Amino acid sequence: MAVKACKSCKYIVEGSTCPACGGKEFSDGFKGRVAIVQPDQSEVAKQLKFEKKGVFALKL
Ligand SMILES: [Zn+2]
Repeated sequence: MAVKACKSCKYIVEGSTCPACGGKEFSDGFKGRVAIVQPDQSEVAKQLKFEKKGVFALKL
């Protein structure tokens, strides 16, 4: 199935609503993905401003 990335928070979503922020606008042309496991302990999460656990797109 095609996955897409939330335009507001970049969370990678398979359904029609973003579980991270509730957004309903998505981009399917995202590039790269990064899994955030411990957002409060991850330098990557801080730099990219990902505050939740999950898989996020690097670039929309
Ligand atoms: Zn979102």
